[in-house]
Amino acid sequence: ALKVPRGEVVFDNVIFAYEPARPILHGVSFRIPPGGTVAVVGGSGSGKSTLARLLLRFYEVGGGSVSIDGQDIRSVSSHSLREAIGVVPQEALLFNDTIAFNIGYGRSGAGMDEIIAAAKAAHIHDLIDSLPLKYDTPVGERGVMLSGGEKQRIALARAILKNPPLLIFDEATSALDTASEQAIQKELDQLSANRTTLVIAHRLSTVVDATEILVMERGRIIERGTHARL
Ligand code: ATP
Ligand code: MG
Repeated sequence: ALKVPRGEVVFDNVIFAYEPARPILHGVSFRIPPGGTVAVVGGSGSGKSTLARLLLRFYEVGGGSVSIDGQDIRSVSSHSLREAIGVVPQEALLFNDTIAFNIGYGRSGAGMDEIIAAAKAAHIHDLIDSLPLKYDTPVGERGVMLSGGEKQRIALARAILKNPPLLIFDEATSALDTASEQAIQKELDQLSANRTTLVIAHRLSTVVDATEILVMERGRIIERGTHARL
């Protein structure tokens, strides 16, 4: 398994293209200190979610490296890497299974009481409790239809339950109304406190506490600094 004693993440001059003819990242370097939070802002298509996909090693970097506590992530198995990282993605994909399974995924052997506690923290328990089959409700095909924001809250509950050393949050504020966004923001702040976090933010106001904020444009960091400075 991947050991994450400190939780330092380093992107060192990362170059990447999904297709050879179209470079997406042109040498991106940043460091998330142990327990710190780096926030990434920037226009649509600038490469923000790509950073998250590379940290999860869904793709290999074309140049440079990504490392965790000094270990190049190419030297660890994808499985152990993903065990160490909790993800609340921009578009949460759920398994075609029950709500309980979807929240518990990633923490095998979690008890129902823990699943419910995580759902409460993610502000999704009341909705689940109102369904006829409650936590046994199937999602996806022929199951309950969940909105984008509801799916994201299920993913947040999964991350809360998983309690991983590293966290990625790709904010999809469009999926949430203002009240849920504020409630979730509070939970996220709690979850990311003292936990190494990469947060992709759509508003500067949501990342006041970040150790560093990166501004991306067309695959490059064009500005960086604290909230007060930017
Ligand atoms: P948004 O704010 O809209 O989520 P983003 O900054 O997260 O944007 P990315 O998803 O990182 O953007 O995408 C960066 C670029 O890579 C975009 O031009 C996008 O079209 C391209 N891209 C993303 N995924 C793929 C893929 N699977 N294959 C080819 N190109 C892709
Ligand atoms: Mg994105």
